[in-house]
Amino acid sequence: MRMTDLIVKKRDGESLSKKEIQFIIKGYVQGDIPDYQMSAWAMAVYFRGMSLEETAELTLAMANSGDQLDLSAIGGRFVDKHSTGGVGDKATLLIGPMVAACGVPVAKMSGRGLGHTGGTIDKLSSIPGFRVELTQEEFLTQVKKIGLSVIAQTGNLVPADKKLYALRDVTGTVSSIPLIASSVMSKKIAAGAQGIVLDVKYGSGAFMKTVEDARILARTMVDIGKALGRQTIAVLSNMNQPLGRAVGNSLEVLEVADALQGKGPDDLMKVCLELGAWMLVAGDSVPNVGAGKKCLLHSIESGAAWNKFLAFLTEQGGDAQAVMDRRLKLAPWNLPILAHQSGYVRPFDAQKVGVLAMTLGAGRTTKDSPIDLGTGVLLVKKAGEWVEAGEPLLQLYGSDKEKLAEGLLLAKDLVSVGNEAPELPSLIEEVIQ
Ligand code: URA
Repeated sequence: MRMTDLIVKKRDGESLSKKEIQFIIKGYVQGDIPDYQMSAWAMAVYFRGMSLEETAELTLAMANSGDQLDLSAIGGRFVDKHSTGGVGDKATLLIGPMVAACGVPVAKMSGRGLGHTGGTIDKLSSIPGFRVELTQEEFLTQVKKIGLSVIAQTGNLVPADKKLYALRDVTGTVSSIPLIASSVMSKKIAAGAQGIVLDVKYGSGAFMKTVEDARILARTMVDIGKALGRQTIAVLSNMNQPLGRAVGNSLEVLEVADALQGKGPDDLMKVCLELGAWMLVAGDSVPNVGAGKKCLLHSIESGAAWNKFLAFLTEQGGDAQAVMDRRLKLAPWNLPILAHQSGYVRPFDAQKVGVLAMTLGAGRTTKDSPIDLGTGVLLVKKAGEWVEAGEPLLQLYGSDKEKLAEGLLLAKDLVSVGNEAPELPSLIEEVIQ
Protein backbone atom coordinates (compact mmCIF):
# COMPACT_ATOMS: atom_id res chain seq x y z
CA MET A 1 0.00 0.00 0.00
CA ARG A 2 1.25 3.51 -0.77
CA MET A 3 0.11 6.67 1.03
CA THR A 4 0.14 8.61 -2.25
CA ASP A 5 -2.54 6.30 -3.66
CA LEU A 6 -4.69 6.67 -0.57
CA ILE A 7 -4.47 10.47 -0.71
CA VAL A 8 -5.55 10.36 -4.38
CA LYS A 9 -8.37 7.93 -3.55
CA LYS A 10 -9.79 10.24 -0.89
CA ARG A 11 -9.16 13.33 -3.03
CA ASP A 12 -11.35 11.73 -5.71
CA GLY A 13 -14.13 11.07 -3.23
CA GLU A 14 -13.77 7.31 -2.88
CA SER A 15 -14.20 5.39 0.36
CA LEU A 16 -11.21 3.91 2.18
CA SER A 17 -11.27 0.35 3.51
CA LYS A 18 -10.60 -0.67 7.12
CA LYS A 19 -7.12 -1.94 6.11
CA GLU A 20 -6.30 1.32 4.33
CA ILE A 21 -7.38 3.41 7.32
CA GLN A 22 -5.33 1.21 9.69
CA PHE A 23 -2.34 1.59 7.37
CA ILE A 24 -2.61 5.39 7.46
CA ILE A 25 -2.93 5.67 11.25
CA LYS A 26 -0.25 3.09 12.02
CA GLY A 27 2.14 4.59 9.48
CA TYR A 28 1.61 8.12 10.79
CA VAL A 29 2.12 7.19 14.45
CA GLN A 30 5.25 5.19 13.63
CA GLY A 31 6.67 8.08 11.61
CA ASP A 32 6.63 6.22 8.26
CA ILE A 33 4.09 8.68 6.83
CA PRO A 34 5.42 12.26 6.93
CA ASP A 35 3.41 15.30 8.03
CA TYR A 36 3.14 16.64 4.47
CA GLN A 37 1.35 13.51 3.24
CA MET A 38 -0.88 13.37 6.31
CA SER A 39 -1.76 17.06 5.79
CA ALA A 40 -2.79 16.39 2.20
CA TRP A 41 -4.90 13.44 3.33
CA ALA A 42 -6.56 15.47 6.12
CA MET A 43 -7.42 18.19 3.59
CA ALA A 44 -8.88 15.57 1.24
CA VAL A 45 -11.03 14.29 4.13
CA TYR A 46 -12.01 17.88 4.94
CA PHE A 47 -13.40 18.40 1.43
CA ARG A 48 -14.64 14.89 0.60
CA GLY A 49 -15.84 13.73 4.03
CA MET A 50 -16.06 10.13 5.18
CA SER A 51 -18.89 7.62 5.43
CA LEU A 52 -20.03 6.49 8.87
CA GLU A 53 -18.23 3.16 8.36
CA GLU A 54 -14.98 4.93 7.48
CA THR A 55 -15.33 7.29 10.46
CA ALA A 56 -15.97 4.37 12.84
CA GLU A 57 -12.90 2.54 11.46
CA LEU A 58 -10.82 5.69 11.84
CA THR A 59 -12.03 6.04 15.44
CA LEU A 60 -11.07 2.45 16.25
CA ALA A 61 -7.70 2.67 14.53
CA MET A 62 -6.94 5.82 16.55
CA ALA A 63 -8.23 4.37 19.84
CA ASN A 64 -5.98 1.34 19.27
CA SER A 65 -2.93 3.45 18.43
CA GLY A 66 -1.72 3.48 22.06
CA ASP A 67 -2.64 2.34 25.56
CA GLN A 68 -6.19 1.60 26.63
CA LEU A 69 -7.30 2.35 30.16
CA ASP A 70 -8.79 -0.49 32.20
CA LEU A 71 -11.29 1.01 34.64
CA SER A 72 -12.86 -2.24 35.75
CA ALA A 73 -11.17 -1.82 39.17
CA ILE A 74 -13.50 1.14 39.87
CA GLY A 75 -16.55 -1.08 39.58
CA GLY A 76 -19.98 -0.09 38.30
CA ARG A 77 -20.74 1.48 34.97
CA PHE A 78 -18.20 4.05 33.91
CA VAL A 79 -19.54 7.18 32.20
CA ASP A 80 -17.44 9.89 30.56
CA LYS A 81 -18.28 13.37 29.31
CA HIS A 82 -16.77 15.51 26.59
CA SER A 83 -17.37 19.02 25.32
CA THR A 84 -16.44 19.93 21.76
CA GLY A 85 -15.05 23.17 23.19
CA GLY A 86 -16.29 26.64 23.95
CA VAL A 87 -15.62 29.94 25.68
CA GLY A 88 -16.01 30.05 29.47
CA ASP A 89 -16.87 26.35 29.42
CA LYS A 90 -15.99 25.22 32.92
CA ALA A 91 -18.75 22.59 32.99
CA THR A 92 -16.49 19.61 33.81
CA LEU A 93 -15.36 21.24 37.05
CA LEU A 94 -18.96 21.55 38.20
CA ILE A 95 -20.41 18.37 36.76
CA GLY A 96 -17.59 16.19 38.14
CA PRO A 97 -18.29 16.90 41.84
CA MET A 98 -22.09 17.00 41.35
CA VAL A 99 -22.22 13.65 39.55
CA ALA A 100 -19.74 12.05 41.97
CA ALA A 101 -21.82 13.35 44.90
CA CYS A 102 -24.81 11.56 43.33
CA GLY A 103 -22.90 8.27 43.40
CA VAL A 104 -21.60 7.86 39.83
CA PRO A 105 -17.77 7.80 39.74
CA VAL A 106 -16.04 10.34 37.50
CA ALA A 107 -12.58 9.37 36.23
CA LYS A 108 -11.85 11.99 33.63
CA MET A 109 -8.98 12.83 31.35
CA SER A 110 -9.17 16.38 30.07
CA GLY A 111 -7.28 18.59 27.66
CA ARG A 112 -5.49 21.91 27.66
CA GLY A 113 -6.92 24.91 25.86
CA LEU A 114 -5.95 25.82 22.34
CA GLY A 115 -6.87 28.94 20.42
CA HIS A 116 -9.90 30.82 21.72
CA THR A 117 -11.34 27.81 23.59
CA GLY A 118 -10.25 27.01 27.14
CA GLY A 119 -9.19 23.66 28.61
CA THR A 120 -10.06 22.09 31.97
CA ILE A 121 -6.45 21.20 32.74
CA ASP A 122 -5.32 24.83 32.45
CA LYS A 123 -8.12 25.92 34.78
CA LEU A 124 -7.08 23.33 37.38
CA SER A 125 -3.46 24.45 37.04
CA SER A 126 -4.45 27.82 38.51
CA ILE A 127 -4.97 26.13 41.90
CA PRO A 128 -1.68 26.18 43.88
CA GLY A 129 -0.16 22.71 44.23
CA PHE A 130 -2.79 20.91 42.14
CA ARG A 131 -1.28 17.92 40.30
CA VAL A 132 -2.76 17.49 36.83
CA GLU A 133 -0.58 14.45 36.22
CA LEU A 134 -1.10 11.29 38.28
CA THR A 135 0.09 7.77 37.63
CA GLN A 136 -2.60 5.39 36.47
CA GLU A 137 -2.51 3.73 39.87
CA GLU A 138 -2.93 7.02 41.75
CA PHE A 139 -5.77 7.97 39.41
CA LEU A 140 -7.70 4.74 40.00
CA THR A 141 -7.01 4.73 43.76
CA GLN A 142 -8.39 8.26 44.06
CA VAL A 143 -11.53 7.46 42.07
CA LYS A 144 -12.13 4.42 44.29
CA LYS A 145 -11.57 6.55 47.40
CA ILE A 146 -13.61 9.69 46.64
CA GLY A 147 -15.33 8.94 43.32
CA LEU A 148 -13.62 11.75 41.41
CA SER A 149 -10.37 12.52 39.64
CA VAL A 150 -9.58 14.77 36.67
CA ILE A 151 -6.14 14.53 35.09
CA ALA A 152 -4.31 15.48 31.91
CA GLN A 153 -4.27 12.84 29.23
CA THR A 154 -1.56 10.31 30.10
CA GLY A 155 1.49 9.65 27.98
CA ASN A 156 0.50 7.09 25.42
CA LEU A 157 -3.29 7.33 25.22
CA VAL A 158 -4.36 7.84 21.58
CA PRO A 159 -0.98 9.08 20.28
CA ALA A 160 -2.58 9.22 16.83
CA ASP A 161 -4.90 12.01 18.00
CA LYS A 162 -2.10 13.94 19.68
CA LYS A 163 -0.12 14.00 16.44
CA LEU A 164 -3.04 14.46 14.09
CA TYR A 165 -4.75 17.16 16.17
CA ALA A 166 -1.55 19.24 16.28
CA LEU A 167 -1.24 18.85 12.51
CA ARG A 168 -4.89 19.76 11.87
CA ASP A 169 -4.48 22.82 14.01
CA VAL A 170 -1.89 24.27 11.65
CA THR A 171 -3.35 23.04 8.35
CA GLY A 172 -6.88 24.43 8.50
CA THR A 173 -8.45 21.00 8.97
CA VAL A 174 -9.80 21.15 12.52
CA SER A 175 -13.45 21.75 11.65
CA SER A 176 -13.99 18.56 9.65
CA ILE A 177 -16.86 16.48 11.03
CA PRO A 178 -15.27 13.00 10.58
CA LEU A 179 -11.95 14.26 11.98
CA ILE A 180 -13.56 15.86 15.05
CA ALA A 181 -15.84 12.85 15.60
CA SER A 182 -12.99 10.34 15.44
CA SER A 183 -10.74 12.56 17.60
CA VAL A 184 -13.34 12.86 20.38
CA MET A 185 -14.67 9.30 20.27
CA SER A 186 -11.24 7.61 20.06
CA LYS A 187 -10.22 9.31 23.32
CA LYS A 188 -13.42 8.30 25.09
CA ILE A 189 -13.11 4.70 23.92
CA ALA A 190 -9.43 4.40 24.85
CA ALA A 191 -10.27 5.91 28.27
CA GLY A 192 -12.58 2.95 28.91
CA ALA A 193 -15.99 4.69 28.80
CA GLN A 194 -19.07 2.48 28.68
CA GLY A 195 -21.42 5.46 28.57
CA ILE A 196 -20.51 8.74 26.84
CA VAL A 197 -22.27 12.10 27.24
CA LEU A 198 -21.26 14.69 24.65
CA ASP A 199 -21.77 18.43 24.83
CA VAL A 200 -21.81 19.39 21.16
CA LYS A 201 -21.58 23.13 20.89
CA TYR A 202 -22.64 25.34 18.01
CA GLY A 203 -22.36 29.07 17.42
CA SER A 204 -19.68 31.69 17.07
CA GLY A 205 -17.53 30.38 19.95
CA ALA A 206 -17.66 26.74 18.79
CA PHE A 207 -15.98 24.77 16.00
CA MET A 208 -19.42 24.11 14.48
CA LYS A 209 -20.84 27.48 13.58
CA THR A 210 -24.37 26.30 12.71
CA VAL A 211 -26.82 24.09 14.54
CA GLU A 212 -27.18 21.99 11.36
CA ASP A 213 -23.46 21.12 11.32
CA ALA A 214 -23.50 20.45 15.06
CA ARG A 215 -26.44 18.09 14.56
CA ILE A 216 -24.53 16.14 11.90
CA LEU A 217 -21.46 15.97 14.17
CA ALA A 218 -23.58 14.82 17.11
CA ARG A 219 -25.39 12.20 15.01
CA THR A 220 -22.05 10.94 13.67
CA MET A 221 -20.58 10.55 17.19
CA VAL A 222 -23.72 8.90 18.58
CA ASP A 223 -23.76 6.43 15.67
CA ILE A 224 -20.04 5.68 16.10
CA GLY A 225 -20.65 5.06 19.80
CA LYS A 226 -23.50 2.69 18.97
CA ALA A 227 -21.45 0.90 16.30
CA LEU A 228 -18.72 0.36 18.89
CA GLY A 229 -21.12 -0.77 21.64
CA ARG A 230 -21.01 2.38 23.80
CA GLN A 231 -24.19 4.15 24.90
CA THR A 232 -23.73 7.69 23.59
CA ILE A 233 -25.92 10.74 24.23
CA ALA A 234 -25.27 14.13 22.65
CA VAL A 235 -26.67 17.42 23.94
CA LEU A 236 -26.63 20.27 21.40
CA SER A 237 -25.92 23.52 23.25
CA ASN A 238 -25.66 27.11 22.12
CA MET A 239 -22.18 28.71 22.20
CA ASN A 240 -22.99 32.10 20.70
CA GLN A 241 -22.53 33.54 24.19
CA PRO A 242 -19.77 32.55 26.63
CA LEU A 243 -20.94 30.16 29.35
CA GLY A 244 -21.20 31.94 32.69
CA ARG A 245 -19.51 35.27 33.39
CA ALA A 246 -15.86 34.30 33.75
CA VAL A 247 -13.44 33.59 30.88
CA GLY A 248 -9.87 32.86 31.99
CA ASN A 249 -8.40 30.19 34.20
CA SER A 250 -8.32 31.48 37.82
CA LEU A 251 -11.46 33.52 37.18
CA GLU A 252 -13.31 30.42 36.02
CA VAL A 253 -12.27 28.34 39.04
CA LEU A 254 -13.64 31.10 41.29
CA GLU A 255 -16.91 31.01 39.36
CA VAL A 256 -17.04 27.23 39.80
CA ALA A 257 -16.55 27.68 43.55
CA ASP A 258 -19.49 30.11 43.64
CA ALA A 259 -21.64 27.80 41.53
CA LEU A 260 -20.95 24.79 43.75
CA GLN A 261 -22.13 26.90 46.69
CA GLY A 262 -25.43 27.71 45.00
CA LYS A 263 -24.47 31.02 43.38
CA GLY A 264 -23.91 29.88 39.80
CA PRO A 265 -25.05 31.83 36.73
CA ASP A 266 -28.27 30.48 35.20
CA ASP A 267 -26.82 29.49 31.82
CA LEU A 268 -23.91 27.56 33.32
CA MET A 269 -26.19 25.75 35.76
CA LYS A 270 -28.68 24.85 33.04
CA VAL A 271 -26.03 23.22 30.82
CA CYS A 272 -24.42 21.42 33.78
CA LEU A 273 -27.72 20.07 35.07
CA GLU A 274 -28.65 18.74 31.63
CA LEU A 275 -25.30 17.06 30.98
CA GLY A 276 -24.91 15.81 34.54
CA ALA A 277 -28.42 14.34 34.56
CA TRP A 278 -27.69 12.40 31.36
CA MET A 279 -24.49 11.09 32.98
CA LEU A 280 -26.55 9.80 35.91
CA VAL A 281 -29.00 8.18 33.47
CA ALA A 282 -26.16 6.57 31.50
CA GLY A 283 -24.58 5.44 34.79
CA ASP A 284 -27.83 3.62 35.67
CA SER A 285 -28.14 5.65 38.85
CA VAL A 286 -31.49 7.35 38.09
CA PRO A 287 -34.44 6.31 35.89
CA ASN A 288 -34.73 9.58 33.95
CA VAL A 289 -33.30 13.06 33.39
CA GLY A 290 -35.81 14.70 35.75
CA ALA A 291 -34.68 12.49 38.63
CA GLY A 292 -31.06 13.18 37.66
CA LYS A 293 -31.54 16.96 37.85
CA LYS A 294 -33.22 16.63 41.23
CA CYS A 295 -30.27 14.66 42.60
CA LEU A 296 -27.76 17.16 41.19
CA LEU A 297 -29.65 20.15 42.63
CA HIS A 298 -29.77 18.43 45.99
CA SER A 299 -25.99 17.88 45.83
CA ILE A 300 -25.58 21.67 45.60
CA GLU A 301 -28.17 22.53 48.24
CA SER A 302 -26.81 20.01 50.74
CA GLY A 303 -23.19 21.10 50.24
CA ALA A 304 -22.24 17.57 49.10
CA ALA A 305 -20.95 18.73 45.68
CA TRP A 306 -18.88 21.55 47.20
CA ASN A 307 -17.38 19.16 49.76
CA LYS A 308 -16.62 16.68 46.98
CA PHE A 309 -14.84 19.42 45.02
CA LEU A 310 -12.71 20.36 48.05
CA ALA A 311 -11.86 16.70 48.69
CA PHE A 312 -10.90 16.31 45.02
CA LEU A 313 -8.59 19.34 45.15
CA THR A 314 -6.96 18.13 48.36
CA GLU A 315 -6.46 14.57 47.11
CA GLN A 316 -4.62 15.91 44.06
CA GLY A 317 -2.33 18.11 46.15
CA GLY A 318 -4.26 21.36 45.54
CA ASP A 319 -4.68 24.11 48.12
CA ALA A 320 -8.42 23.83 48.77
CA GLN A 321 -8.21 26.56 51.41
CA ALA A 322 -6.92 29.00 48.77
CA VAL A 323 -10.04 28.32 46.70
CA MET A 324 -12.28 28.69 49.77
CA ASP A 325 -10.60 32.01 50.62
CA ARG A 326 -10.61 33.14 46.95
CA ARG A 327 -6.83 33.53 47.04
CA LEU A 328 -6.10 32.41 43.48
CA LYS A 329 -3.59 34.49 41.61
CA LEU A 330 -5.28 37.18 39.54
CA ALA A 331 -3.51 39.55 37.15
CA PRO A 332 -2.39 42.83 38.80
CA TRP A 333 -4.34 45.18 36.55
CA ASN A 334 -8.04 45.08 36.07
CA LEU A 335 -9.72 47.54 33.76
CA PRO A 336 -13.46 48.07 33.50
CA ILE A 337 -15.16 48.71 30.15
CA LEU A 338 -18.00 51.11 30.94
CA ALA A 339 -21.39 51.46 29.27
CA HIS A 340 -21.74 54.79 27.43
CA GLN A 341 -25.51 54.71 27.71
CA SER A 342 -28.18 52.96 29.73
CA GLY A 343 -29.99 50.06 28.07
CA TYR A 344 -30.08 46.35 27.44
CA VAL A 345 -26.78 44.62 26.75
CA ARG A 346 -26.74 43.20 23.24
CA PRO A 347 -25.34 39.68 22.69
CA PHE A 348 -21.57 39.34 22.80
CA ASP A 349 -19.79 37.33 20.15
CA ALA A 350 -18.40 34.35 22.09
CA GLN A 351 -15.47 33.87 19.73
CA LYS A 352 -14.46 37.51 20.14
CA VAL A 353 -14.62 37.19 23.94
CA GLY A 354 -12.40 34.08 23.64
CA VAL A 355 -9.93 35.93 21.43
CA LEU A 356 -9.93 38.86 23.88
CA ALA A 357 -9.15 36.54 26.81
CA MET A 358 -6.43 34.87 24.74
CA THR A 359 -4.95 38.26 23.82
CA LEU A 360 -4.76 39.16 27.51
CA GLY A 361 -2.76 35.96 28.10
CA ALA A 362 -5.41 33.40 29.13
CA GLY A 363 -5.03 31.16 26.06
CA ARG A 364 -2.45 29.68 23.73
CA THR A 365 -1.75 30.74 20.20
CA THR A 366 0.38 27.64 19.63
CA LYS A 367 0.50 24.27 21.38
CA ASP A 368 3.50 25.20 23.51
CA SER A 369 2.97 28.89 24.15
CA PRO A 370 2.90 29.93 27.82
CA ILE A 371 -0.32 30.88 29.55
CA ASP A 372 -0.93 33.59 32.14
CA LEU A 373 -3.40 31.92 34.50
CA GLY A 374 -4.56 35.08 36.29
CA THR A 375 -5.67 36.93 33.15
CA GLY A 376 -9.06 36.95 31.46
CA VAL A 377 -12.39 38.67 31.11
CA LEU A 378 -15.30 38.98 33.49
CA LEU A 379 -18.67 39.65 31.88
CA VAL A 380 -20.09 41.90 34.58
CA LYS A 381 -23.25 42.17 32.47
CA LYS A 382 -24.50 39.50 30.11
CA ALA A 383 -26.68 39.75 27.04
CA GLY A 384 -30.22 40.88 27.86
CA GLU A 385 -29.32 42.44 31.21
CA TRP A 386 -29.94 46.12 31.94
CA VAL A 387 -26.97 48.42 32.44
CA GLU A 388 -26.86 52.04 33.58
CA ALA A 389 -24.60 54.51 31.76
CA GLY A 390 -21.19 54.54 33.48
CA GLU A 391 -21.56 51.04 34.94
CA PRO A 392 -18.99 48.37 33.98
CA LEU A 393 -19.95 45.91 31.26
CA LEU A 394 -16.70 43.98 31.28
CA GLN A 395 -13.65 43.75 33.47
CA LEU A 396 -10.33 42.93 31.81
CA TYR A 397 -7.58 41.25 33.84
CA GLY A 398 -4.06 41.62 32.48
CA SER A 399 -0.46 41.59 33.61
CA ASP A 400 1.16 42.95 30.45
CA LYS A 401 0.53 46.56 29.45
CA GLU A 402 0.86 45.96 25.71
CA LYS A 403 -1.55 43.04 25.80
CA LEU A 404 -3.98 45.09 27.88
CA ALA A 405 -3.84 47.94 25.36
CA GLU A 406 -4.56 45.45 22.56
CA GLY A 407 -7.35 43.94 24.65
CA LEU A 408 -8.91 47.35 25.26
CA LEU A 409 -9.26 47.89 21.52
CA LEU A 410 -10.88 44.49 21.05
CA ALA A 411 -13.19 45.03 24.03
CA LYS A 412 -14.52 48.34 22.75
CA ASP A 413 -15.74 46.60 19.58
CA LEU A 414 -17.35 43.86 21.53
CA VAL A 415 -19.99 45.55 23.60
CA SER A 416 -23.09 47.45 22.65
CA VAL A 417 -26.24 48.53 24.42
CA GLY A 418 -29.71 49.06 22.93
CA ASN A 419 -33.19 50.19 23.92
CA GLU A 420 -34.85 46.87 23.18
CA ALA A 421 -34.23 43.69 25.15
CA PRO A 422 -32.60 41.28 22.65
CA GLU A 423 -34.21 37.93 21.97
CA LEU A 424 -31.97 35.21 23.29
CA PRO A 425 -32.04 31.74 21.72
CA SER A 426 -32.60 28.69 23.88
CA LEU A 427 -29.44 27.28 25.42
CA ILE A 428 -30.19 23.60 24.87
CA GLU A 429 -31.32 22.87 21.33
CA GLU A 430 -31.94 19.12 21.50
CA VAL A 431 -30.70 15.79 22.76
CA ILE A 432 -29.64 13.13 20.28
CA GLN A 433 -29.31 9.49 21.28
N1 URA B 1 -12.17 18.35 20.53
C1 URA B 1 -11.42 17.24 20.29
O1 URA B 1 -11.10 16.47 21.18
N2 URA B 1 -11.03 17.01 19.02
C2 URA B 1 -11.35 17.80 17.99
O2 URA B 1 -11.00 17.51 16.88
C3 URA B 1 -12.13 18.96 18.26
C4 URA B 1 -12.53 19.21 19.54
